[in-house]
Amino acid sequence: MDNQPVDCGCDTTPQPLLSIDEALEILTSSAKVTNSTQLIELDDTLNRILAVDIHANISVPSFDNSAMDGYAINLKENQINTPSVFTFEITDRIPAGGTGNSLIPGCAARIFTGAPIPKGANTVLMQEECELIENKSKIEVYRPISLGENIRPMGNDIQSGDVILSKGKQLQPQDIALVASVGIGKLEVFHKIKVGVFFTGNELVKPGDVLQQGKIFNSNRYSLVALLNKLGCEVINLGNVKDTFNATCGALEALKSDCDLIITTGGVSVGEEDYIKPAIEKLGQLSLWRIKIKPGKPLAFGNLGHCAFIGLPGNPVSAMVTFLLFARPFIKKMQGVSHYLNTTFKTQANFDWHKPKPRREFVRARLDHTVFPTKVNLHPKQGSDVLSSMVWADGLIEIPEKTTFKRGEVLNFYPLNEMLS
Ligand code: AMP
Ligand code: MG
Repeated sequence: MDNQPVDCGCDTTPQPLLSIDEALEILTSSAKVTNSTQLIELDDTLNRILAVDIHANISVPSFDNSAMDGYAINLKENQINTPSVFTFEITDRIPAGGTGNSLIPGCAARIFTGAPIPKGANTVLMQEECELIENKSKIEVYRPISLGENIRPMGNDIQSGDVILSKGKQLQPQDIALVASVGIGKLEVFHKIKVGVFFTGNELVKPGDVLQQGKIFNSNRYSLVALLNKLGCEVINLGNVKDTFNATCGALEALKSDCDLIITTGGVSVGEEDYIKPAIEKLGQLSLWRIKIKPGKPLAFGNLGHCAFIGLPGNPVSAMVTFLLFARPFIKKMQGVSHYLNTTFKTQANFDWHKPKPRREFVRARLDHTVFPTKVNLHPKQGSDVLSSMVWADGLIEIPEKTTFKRGEVLNFYPLNEMLS
């Protein structure tokens, strides 16, 4: 009974195709930024999304200090920039972390990198430029000396009150270090979002199990879970789900109260074995489902109450490409990331495009850096089932709809390493 097509009362007549830009706009404008935050130790903040602006309440450095191991000097007025030989008596020694005494004119303090410049000192000489004389009690210098040499002034890096990081930044090692440098030990970040996933298809077999005639291994399960892990989501994985209306509804029901978002692959067309659309329409709302894109025309977007829903197509390349182009910016916006859209750069086609296509295409491509300007080549097989083309590629090239062009055309390139970071 379960395997029979179910008349769920929903309209299955094809709706007009949406443009990619329209679909992305609908998706991102309806993505709700998570409103829960947590305060965590700096060591745990890598890749997390900052939930507040961070202000410095000290300057860095917080005192003038030496940029070199050498000698801090109190240069007299008549010694500044004068070509002569100078002698200074060493009257103090200041290691990093220490403090020195006031330095009187004509005297020097042995000083080390990072140590505070003592009162009265107005320049620092590198030790390599100084000769120790008279049983190391004095130094001699043989060149004109300027004021302020090798001194790192207070506030050189950060001024007290500066906004050093902005809300919505995904924290990288240098961000965490900058926060540490102003003495902040914990950061308020957005909570991880919870994404429930399952994979529709009677043909799907778990890798490692025996592959019977007509079955295939479930590869989408691995790309999707890995993509979500890369994005720092908490993943609840229900695994393979049979192509029945009841099984699809059951999986959605099991996830919806616990998740911020559910993502599925397969079953989003209008074939008799495609149950995602009727199941979402029964349990929630479906906002869009067909987009002018290749690969990946069928794509479902909707919600089950507070839980958002994205149904990706089943073909492995389509599933990955639509995830990267649509689900990724959607998730990043939900996570609170301020720059959630994909970034592209321009590159030149190393191929002709003869046949205008009705849908915008995202073709698997690889940059050739041995030529200048860099050119981009196509994988010879662009089928949405050719997963090896994704492994070969280092990015996707956007081919505008209804167009032809010659080698040398400038096109948008979506780098995979960026979209997978
Ligand atoms: P569907 O979107 O369900 O019509 O599936 C389209 C194609 O993708 C079919 O050839 C499926 O066998 C294949 N496919 C669906 N789900 C997966 C999956 N999880 N892993 C690999 N291939 C799949
Ligand atoms: Mg299917």
